[in-house]
Amino acid sequence: MGLWNLDVEHIYHHGVRADVALAVLTCDEKTYFREVMPLARALRSKAFGNKISFCSITNAKSGACIEDCKFCAQSSHYKEGQSPVYGLKSADQIVADAKQAWDFGATEFSIVTSGRGITKEREMDTLVNAIDRIHQETNLESCASLGLMKKEDLKRLRDVGMINYHHNIETSRSYFPNIVTTHQFDDEIESLKHAKELGFQICSGGILGMGENLDQRVEFAFNLKEIDPDSIPLNFLNPRPGTPLAHLHDLTPLDCLKGISMIRLVLPKKELFVCGGREVNLGEWQDKIFDAGASGTMLGNYLTTRGQAPEDDVNMIKRLGLEAVAPHRKNYDPSI
Ligand code: SF4
Repeated sequence: MGLWNLDVEHIYHHGVRADVALAVLTCDEKTYFREVMPLARALRSKAFGNKISFCSITNAKSGACIEDCKFCAQSSHYKEGQSPVYGLKSADQIVADAKQAWDFGATEFSIVTSGRGITKEREMDTLVNAIDRIHQETNLESCASLGLMKKEDLKRLRDVGMINYHHNIETSRSYFPNIVTTHQFDDEIESLKHAKELGFQICSGGILGMGENLDQRVEFAFNLKEIDPDSIPLNFLNPRPGTPLAHLHDLTPLDCLKGISMIRLVLPKKELFVCGGREVNLGEWQDKIFDAGASGTMLGNYLTTRGQAPEDDVNMIKRLGLEAVAPHRKNYDPSI
């Protein structure tokens, strides 16, 4: 029996072991398309049918961040090629961004801010007001990504009905110190723990192609398995000028598809969103991400880079016979 004669039912309930996850990343192209991709597609469609989700974000506060994440153009540690610097947008602006995303066809909307975390009362008031209004004025599922947050502040967002909280672990535990030195991997875990305790659905993932080796990619997937997030945003490094990773071009389109499939096989029932770096790393293979196991993608622009036109993504979904709905409206039961 070959390595890939695996029982879909068994993987769906238990996920694959680390050696199989590594084999996904190391197999040749023929094996990938013949054996691995059909398995990943079967798992995705068992969990979600033909339904995918479109997430959209607003960069609600940009740049001047004191952290030193080596991939990030918003860090103040790297001067050259920095992203724009501005303070927190008003609630009106954030709600307008949400409405635009809703018009484009997004099903989820996330408010993302630069910096270690939101600590000012005034800023928290703005965010609480914006989220409350997004729920009243659109049918979007809301989410926020605000850095390392105090539990009492997260509770204010929960109290106005926000159900998702996003916080990436960025990379595997063992590779994390190569990417961030101003805070620890355990700080990320702590923040996610607070959000979980408050009953948020957790969205946590990271970036492939930052110089980590294949074992560390597998470790990253198993770190996520331990965290047990509800959804996983998977980014592919789009090297930003001026950052320490500016010259790193580590990923082929096939590496990206294998990365998606590996995570689908390790975490078969989770929402898996392909986010930043999709266009630049996958090129013409972008429409293969759903066959590779993704259950969603990002619509519109990323934090500091532009995405392809939303209409192109909406058309791609139609062409593939998929339907975009918000994750909580997929009506799937992950326990089945
Ligand atoms: S990823 Fe977030 S915390 Fe890290 S430098 Fe960028 S804005 Fe700051």
